[in-house]
Amino acid sequence: MQEQMVDIESEKKEILKRYRALLRAVKPGSPDDDRKQIRTAFNMALDAHKDMRRKSGEPYIFHPLAVAQIVAEDIGLGSTAVVAALLHDVVEDTHVTLEDIEKIFGKKVASIVDGLTKISGVFEQGSSQQAENFRKMLLTLSDDVRVILIKLSDRLNNMRTLDFMEREKQLKIASETLYLYAPLAHRLGLYAFKTELEDLALKYTEPEVYKMIDSKLQETSKERARFIKEFSDPLVDELKEQELKFEIRGRPKSIHSIWNKMRKQGVSFEEIYDLFAVRIIIDADVAEEKAACWQAYSVVTDFYHPNPDRLRDWISTPKANGYESLHTTVMGPSGKWVEVQIRSRRMDEVAEKGYAAHWKYKDSATAAETALDEWVNKIRELLQNPDSNALDFIDEFKLNLFSDEIFVFTPTGDLKKLPTGSTALDFAFDIHTDIGAHCIGAKVNHRLVPLSHKLKSGDQVEILTSSKQKPKEDWLTYVVTARAKAKIKAALKEDKRRIAEDGKEILERKFRHLKIEFNQTNINELLLYYRLPSSQELFFRIAKEIIDVGDLKEFANNKGHIKATAQPQPEKPEQSLEELVRSVRGKSDMLVIGDTMERFDYKLSPCCNPIPGDDVFGFITINEGIKIHRVNCPNAIHLMSNYAYRIVKAKWTSKAELAFLAGIKIIGIDNVGVINKITKVISSDLKVNMRSVNFDSKDGMFEGTIMLFVNDTTHLTKLMSKLKNISGITTVNRIDTN
Ligand code: MN
Repeated sequence: MQEQMVDIESEKKEILKRYRALLRAVKPGSPDDDRKQIRTAFNMALDAHKDMRRKSGEPYIFHPLAVAQIVAEDIGLGSTAVVAALLHDVVEDTHVTLEDIEKIFGKKVASIVDGLTKISGVFEQGSSQQAENFRKMLLTLSDDVRVILIKLSDRLNNMRTLDFMEREKQLKIASETLYLYAPLAHRLGLYAFKTELEDLALKYTEPEVYKMIDSKLQETSKERARFIKEFSDPLVDELKEQELKFEIRGRPKSIHSIWNKMRKQGVSFEEIYDLFAVRIIIDADVAEEKAACWQAYSVVTDFYHPNPDRLRDWISTPKANGYESLHTTVMGPSGKWVEVQIRSRRMDEVAEKGYAAHWKYKDSATAAETALDEWVNKIRELLQNPDSNALDFIDEFKLNLFSDEIFVFTPTGDLKKLPTGSTALDFAFDIHTDIGAHCIGAKVNHRLVPLSHKLKSGDQVEILTSSKQKPKEDWLTYVVTARAKAKIKAALKEDKRRIAEDGKEILERKFRHLKIEFNQTNINELLLYYRLPSSQELFFRIAKEIIDVGDLKEFANNKGHIKATAQPQPEKPEQSLEELVRSVRGKSDMLVIGDTMERFDYKLSPCCNPIPGDDVFGFITINEGIKIHRVNCPNAIHLMSNYAYRIVKAKWTSKAELAFLAGIKIIGIDNVGVINKITKVISSDLKVNMRSVNFDSKDGMFEGTIMLFVNDTTHLTKLMSKLKNISGITTVNRIDTN
């Protein structure tokens, strides 16, 4: 029950106000402009959710209204999508059925809502429910990409209202967002979505970091504006002189991308030079836009010296998500590198609004659209691979999402796009499965190279084949594309099956010879004898002569003894895991670490070395009991989003006098005695035990990694600030692993 009296009248007014705002956001004259349908959908959703409230206490209808608003305003979709967005939660949460929706709104809307309806009880069940769900959603992509766009809008609204959830829920939802939804938005070219999703996720996974960067960005905004003006002024004059119509903007990078850089490069906020990019947007006809962009590029580089390694031309070759732009990094005033993005108005809209903008410019039949179609085809191909289970599928999918691309050419000059790190073998499989399977080598730019040769953009590749060649196990270690991996695995499996067939015949002959009947009972005994999981494995080993059929005599002699023991059980580790999870969950809701009375075995995970005071969770493993990870552990996102049911809450008790391993990285100027000072602070002033110390110096700078034992985060923080005070030391950071 609500403690406060809800003012029903003003709530009704607010609902109507939001509904009218939605109607205004739906662009008139869009191909499916049907306001009557929107009204019907709104009334249906309003009625179906009438007794429900969100965690914030607001009426539930605020949520579908907000999602529909994003769909119409930010993505620019028409009324079919708006109707589906309004109804996206009714089938799952209310008495309304899919049949009801189909009757009133037709097949299209019903199939979109179906794609959006999650499998019920998602988090309670097995490991891959979430993955399965995601797969279901992507399957609908091949029918209608609007499912994905509405799902992303739903996620965006949920992230915006995450404040009211419990901490565990926040972490899970935020992790999932980073793991799946932000990359998906990126892949679809929805940059504004991607950035907001990432920033919001960071706000909940690393609240302190988020606050710190956010406030530093605000503090430095004046200074940044001054710098951007100084940088742009001469460009503005010259671009005007050349009679280009343009707009010039300087925008800070997202908080998440700044944080990524700080982490990857181990530098502080102040040391990140490219906090912002300058963007020049040119108004030009489609026919002239490419020339106009290069004209602007020429103006920029007349004033500022470009870094030759940092020119990116995504106008001539758009990214797979349709992104078109010209990027260069130039040396700006006061010796700072500045990234400059040059693009036309149309390209800018495509970059911000992604797919929707493609629709808008459909008549112009741009290269960007072809690229997008190609992408949808790739996803479809992935989805049609029947072999992969849901979790593999997501990994493969992510493989395709994250990779940057290279462009290579066939001998006849056809362009192929592959992920960075692709080898000659990936290229072969990209052309055709048969070519990949029979590939023995390649010629790259007319030079002979091995299969594992990594390709670079611009390479021209000719594949050499032999009919005798077939896929090998070790090929899997150097292909990177999901397609090549899947094809090689399938071929190896088939190969193994055929070899096993031969092995079966050999065994049959041997049994006949030893007068043992060739039946399942005797085969099972043999499996037990050799401790093998399946008859296929047994047959395979026999054919490969890993098992010597000569030894079977001994087996035949011992047969009587073995019989007494149990039949081999095809026991799955999953089963015992389920039990383990149940037993842990059943006994305690919260794992308490450091308490002498703890009931479960736990280990502190070496991947992030948690110490008391860290925000942590427990992860139930199959063989090693419960492992404790930091919430910001690099592996946490993956664990939380894929194995939510194996996560247990964990917290530290008031600290015992225990010592925990932590790592810090120190960077500074290599002057006489500095290392001595560091070790003195650690060992005598603060009486900390070091486990390992590593110092490297180069060109007058040194970098040190120290693994030491501390009691908790307070202890560690104190130590780090003492180290920072030593003259010559520039940065001190905690690191995750040793
Ligand atoms: Mn929803």
